[in-house]
Amino acid sequence: MYDYDLLVVGSANADLVIGVDRRPGAGETVLGSDLALHPGGKGANQAVAAARLGARTALLARVGDDAHGRLLLDSQRDAGVDTAAVLVGGAPTGVALITVDPSGDNSIVVSPGANGHLTPKDVRAASALLAASRVISAQLEIPLETVVEVVRGLRPGTRFVLNPSPPRELPEDVLAACDPLIVNEHEARVVLGVDTGDTPEQWAEALLALGPRSVVVTLGADGALVADAAGSARVASVKVDAVDTTGAGDAFTAALAWRLGLGESLAEAARYAARVGAAAVTREGAQDSFPTAEEVAAL
Ligand code: ADP
Repeated sequence: MYDYDLLVVGSANADLVIGVDRRPGAGETVLGSDLALHPGGKGANQAVAAARLGARTALLARVGDDAHGRLLLDSQRDAGVDTAAVLVGGAPTGVALITVDPSGDNSIVVSPGANGHLTPKDVRAASALLAASRVISAQLEIPLETVVEVVRGLRPGTRFVLNPSPPRELPEDVLAACDPLIVNEHEARVVLGVDTGDTPEQWAEALLALGPRSVVVTLGADGALVADAAGSARVASVKVDAVDTTGAGDAFTAALAWRLGLGESLAEAARYAARVGAAAVTREGAQDSFPTAEEVAAL
């Protein structure tokens, strides 16, 4: 009855990465490595992660009419994402300028570009796509009012999943639609806005009190915590040699959203998503590191 297992509404960025011995201070110029150019942005990452697992996936996003936009569209299509709803033009493609030092610490400047021009009107124009999608996933690298419009346009039976990144306090109607709200520690603290304790169980309880039907707290190498009205449970991580954690949260979220749409319980879907997140950290990069279903099964 649905054409798509997952519709991702979100950002697409070109990640421009330069390795440096030392990140520059104010007024300083440093020389770095050759420029590396990667497709990124949380929305684009989630769509690629889901499609690579085998989910029928579509992306609603906006890119510029430029080379970065074409790079992003190519990476989506290569992964098998339906890009018919990706809008082109209005501003340059979003860019993240990333410097990384030898310890792995980075400094990032993001120019949202076209992502900032994905509007509520664009969401209304895509209403047939929203209606054709079993699960809809969003993040906050696009305007909040655009996410609000997605929530307003939800049909009964469509599941909404939100990773509020970069985090901010959220309106009640958005919170109430989340099933689940997926946060890491930093995102949990910002969405809560007040100190509610130091354990994931305490954050989850406080977040549930804000209205979402369910909550998932991701805990990096420690796995995740799932919580809903029935209670909370820890989901163990898979032990792997972590090489690069970039994109792990996006891969986790995409996998979770897809498996929930297949009818799995929150705990079952999170166990699968933890395997996907673990596989993603064993390889360099974001989209390049996302596993196929066969690779997840072999883990
Ligand atoms: P984010 O990138 O949003 O902060 P996390 O770092 O918590 O998200 O990663 C998301 C999920 O990926 C985790 O819940 C976990 O299941 C998996 N994961 C992340 N890092 C590791 C790791 N070092 N080893 C195993 N699994 C990991």
